[in-house]
Amino acid sequence: MDVQAFFKLTYGLYVVCGKFENAQSGFVSNTVMQVTADPSRVAIAVSKNNFTCELIRKSLRFTVSALKQSVSRDIISTFGYSSGRDTDKFASFGHQTTANGLPVLTQDALAWFDCLVEKALDLGTHYLFVALVVNTEVLSEGEPLTYAYYRDVMKGHSPKSAPTYLDPKAIPSDSEKSDNIIYMCSICGYEYDPAVGDPDSGIAPGTPFEDLPDDWVCPICKMAKSNFIKKE
Ligand code: FE
Repeated sequence: MDVQAFFKLTYGLYVVCGKFENAQSGFVSNTVMQVTADPSRVAIAVSKNNFTCELIRKSLRFTVSALKQSVSRDIISTFGYSSGRDTDKFASFGHQTTANGLPVLTQDALAWFDCLVEKALDLGTHYLFVALVVNTEVLSEGEPLTYAYYRDVMKGHSPKSAPTYLDPKAIPSDSEKSDNIIYMCSICGYEYDPAVGDPDSGIAPGTPFEDLPDDWVCPICKMAKSNFIKKE
């Protein structure tokens, strides 16, 4: 089986949020799709290890925020690479509460959907939830963030809990063609390319990995430099 085939499937990137009693959380998902129009329904796949999955199973409700292409990396790192069990993921980001009392991320989002679960299908590692859309709001106009953009431009990969996770070591790097030595984050798969640097963190293009400051962290998952491995 050629794992590259899976990159021919396209996705958007979303933040899915849930709440049950006093607990609330959210995570970055690339598996949200509209499945019927009348009535409007969406389907999402959620890892059973995910705290938000627990909240959705108990409340049978969730929200979806469609992210914009210019989304802050802090949103990806907070919602994609930390756990809502020990972090208040909403603390630093614009959000609101829907009429049904659910949190919804509004910062860097183009639109949101408030959803009521009708069916849950056990897929082993994940649940597939099919849900009725009960309310929506368009927040702004702009380009939606696609998984291809996240992977190709933001240099991110799916976390292990994602339905589309692939072992980063099994994915050939586009950058191997250059003389640059690429280092890859073993947590999230982000690739540090010296030719590009990390301008968002003040690292100029042309900075070799070895010259990055000791307190430099992965721009996607915020893990330390020591988690990086040289890409063979
Ligand atoms: Fe990382």
